[in-house]
Amino acid sequence: MYNKNILFQRKGTDVLNQEKEILISLRGLGKDFPSGNGVINALQNIDLDIYENEFMVIHGESGSGKSTLINIIGGMDTLTKGKIIAFGQDLNRISERDLTKYRRKNIGFIFQNYNLMPNLTAEENVQYIADLVKDPMDVKEAIEKVGLTDRADHFPGQLSGGQQQRVAIARAIVKRPKLILADEPTAALDHARSIEVLSFIEKIVKNDKTTVVMVTHNAEIAKMADRTVKISNGRITQIRENKNPLHAEDLVW
Ligand code: ADP
Ligand code: MG
Repeated sequence: MYNKNILFQRKGTDVLNQEKEILISLRGLGKDFPSGNGVINALQNIDLDIYENEFMVIHGESGSGKSTLINIIGGMDTLTKGKIIAFGQDLNRISERDLTKYRRKNIGFIFQNYNLMPNLTAEENVQYIADLVKDPMDVKEAIEKVGLTDRADHFPGQLSGGQQQRVAIARAIVKRPKLILADEPTAALDHARSIEVLSFIEKIVKNDKTTVVMVTHNAEIAKMADRTVKISNGRITQIRENKNPLHAEDLVW
């Protein structure tokens, strides 16, 4: 269905030159924001492919363009130049309506600030998202996967930051999306809570065969990835395959 390409060795496999589907291709992508009399070139000349079932970490300093990039991939922002083909669709050319469908059907989102609805319980937050798609995971199963079964009836205000982020992960996986986008999911958490959240994200890639693209300013977190993409001043400065990705529990900062 999509382009075929060659990806090299992945963790847990000894298969070289395994054929991988490309889910999303960016070519010559640029994004300008108007600013005063001029523009800010938030992204310039981005060429990138995202493969099925890979764990990609995009890292770079604050202001380097990471959120802008992930927002464009998620269909939440538009591009100024170049092209993005996602799941066979040219996102620059499809209607608003189709873009909404694209976001709804294909993508699970995890944000730094959890973005849970405060007046819904953990379970209701997950149910709300499950109701958006045709073939969701069982809501209780999604909550169980993030270890929150005994907290399902709690409101976000009654949960710690780490627990709220785990609800957000349940909400992202309940759609059974092909792609999960996570923007600095641990930036508001302490080290121990960050590791917990990252462990659940790691399990999604391994057990649910989902592609995860995670953005972070923390270079240590990049060590978990199958591939790391370094971005600085709106440009990709390095794409590296990681032969020996670390487990979340082995990260130290
Ligand atoms: P990061 O997520 O890496 O911290 P961002 O993608 O948020 O970086 O921002 C990249 C650049 O684009 C920054 O200079 C930022 O100020 C600018 N920018 C981001 N969003 C907007 C916006 N909506 N309007 C104007 N400038 C923006
Ligand atoms: Mg950001």
